[in-house]
Amino acid sequence: MQPTSSKPFSYETFPSSGIVAYFSMEIAINPGMPTYSGGLGVLAGDTLRSAADLGVPLVAFTLVHRKGYFQQHLDRAGFQSEEIQPWNPSDFCTEEPARVTVSVEDRVVTVRCWRYDLVGRYGHVVPIYLLDTDVDGNSGWDRGLTDHLYGGDTNYRLQQEIVLGMGGVRMAAALGHRVNVFHMNEGHAALLTLGLLESQMGGGPLGASTETDIEQVRKKCVFTTHTPVPAGHDRFSTEQSIRILGGDRTARLEKLGCFKDGMLNMTLLALRFSRYANGVAMQHGKVSREMFPEFAIDSITNGVHAPTWVSEPIQEMLDQHIPAWRRDNLYLRNAIDLPEKDILAAHLSAKKALLEEVATRTGVVLDPKVLTLGFARRAATYKRATLLFTDPKRLLEIATKAGGLQILFAGKAHPQDEPGKALIHQVIEDAGKLSNGVLRIVYLENYAWDLGALLTAGVDVWVNTPRRPYEASGTSGMKAALNGVPSLSILDGWWIEGCIEGFTGWAIEDGANDEEEANSLYQKLENAVVPLYTQSPEKWARLMRNTVALNGSFFNTNRMVKQYTRNSYYPVKLIEQPKVREEVLAHQG
Ligand SMILES: *Cc1c(COP(=O)(O)O)cnc(C)c1O
Repeated sequence: MQPTSSKPFSYETFPSSGIVAYFSMEIAINPGMPTYSGGLGVLAGDTLRSAADLGVPLVAFTLVHRKGYFQQHLDRAGFQSEEIQPWNPSDFCTEEPARVTVSVEDRVVTVRCWRYDLVGRYGHVVPIYLLDTDVDGNSGWDRGLTDHLYGGDTNYRLQQEIVLGMGGVRMAAALGHRVNVFHMNEGHAALLTLGLLESQMGGGPLGASTETDIEQVRKKCVFTTHTPVPAGHDRFSTEQSIRILGGDRTARLEKLGCFKDGMLNMTLLALRFSRYANGVAMQHGKVSREMFPEFAIDSITNGVHAPTWVSEPIQEMLDQHIPAWRRDNLYLRNAIDLPEKDILAAHLSAKKALLEEVATRTGVVLDPKVLTLGFARRAATYKRATLLFTDPKRLLEIATKAGGLQILFAGKAHPQDEPGKALIHQVIEDAGKLSNGVLRIVYLENYAWDLGALLTAGVDVWVNTPRRPYEASGTSGMKAALNGVPSLSILDGWWIEGCIEGFTGWAIEDGANDEEEANSLYQKLENAVVPLYTQSPEKWARLMRNTVALNGSFFNTNRMVKQYTRNSYYPVKLIEQPKVREEVLAHQG
């Protein structure tokens, strides 16, 4: 029998000692630091910003990425070239004196780290440690292991993952942090489990580890998967695993069932060693359970850090009408009553700021009165950036009917993604052919944090056309929603949850092929978006405030981090004892 208690729930409250350690290969920490590539890194940064705001006891580990991701250049014909983005960690961070080592192939590599203090709204600090192998004594190759985010081949990647996972675990201990939850943000960090198992074994051979040892590790680990298709999971061959990680570790991982189709699968490794795992949207949780049916995988839908992504004019308007929104984003629900003229005026300011930036960067002067669509994200082929151009004649007809149409594109293709680069070239070529007095199409170079913020706040409609079910979540549409900008999107990822047809935006209907989905895209533009935009500013303003109220209030990291805290890190446990519940209910009257 449980002892009777006056509380219906036993909270594992934040422990008085012990913290969460959050591991991510990329984190968008500061707009001046090129330590991220896209959505995953932005999500990690937004998570930490909200954790700092909410006072969650947490520290984070990532790699320093001294040469960044890459700076994108597009030539006149639309061909992408890349340049490294060297930066100086000491301009932003403080070097820690601690040193640890990891074994890579048959070498011992020394790791140091840089601390960046992320300060929350009320002064709580989340330290972010950027691991760095550019240390005297390491070989030239090893000194470059923490240089390039997603650069090099899979050998380089596995070596980086050893530095992140195993180096991070040892660094946390060397820094004196008492960690009771290790959060793996995507499979790149999965090797932290091996680091923990080795420390559990006191450095002894892994082959001797028992179920109890593994259970001790599992108790401390939680995992978030971000990938909805098997090909997207981080995998390494047995040969690579033996050569880089070592034979003993590889044998243990094989025995534990972390290999799939003859490959070491980092998602599987993370799942095997986690007491809790989640996908990043309701649909993505379901897709993940279908891929890994032997695991219980929950869903915690992504969000964005509202004060980071809401434009200055919208922030001022919200401060005036809903002052509590910064402290607790749920108050954005009250945006349902915002005065129409105020939200229209604030959006117009954000739109003008965007169009000024477009003019500065490209010399193209666009009209703030004209309906403007935005499409910006990694130029991965599944996102289908050219879907809008499927039927150029029809697009031109719609533009004419709308009294003009402006479309802004941006996005980088990974340097080794030739189809992605071809897609950018195609968009730019089509844009050149199609642009005229009525339809204006611009591709902006070097999509990153600053441009992302301007675009999601300044366009009128945010367009997304992923091929289902490749979009695990998507977060740029959430940034748009917080700025009152509705989405026109395929029902995939977060939009399945966020779309209320005609209230928060519009769904592009599922079709059997690209042509059918393009057809639905045109239909929605022509019959829903254009008439509302051109005929009734009041109705458009109501759509905007619905978008903030219904989607801005939910798709934020303020809500998301609270869910992680209570569902993943320190779960609420229900004491199933009816008598206690009755007592409490009686007490509550
Ligand atoms: C928000 C953001 C993303 C994520 O965009 P999705 O459309 O969700 O893929 C990618 N890159 C940058 C720079 C961002 O700000």
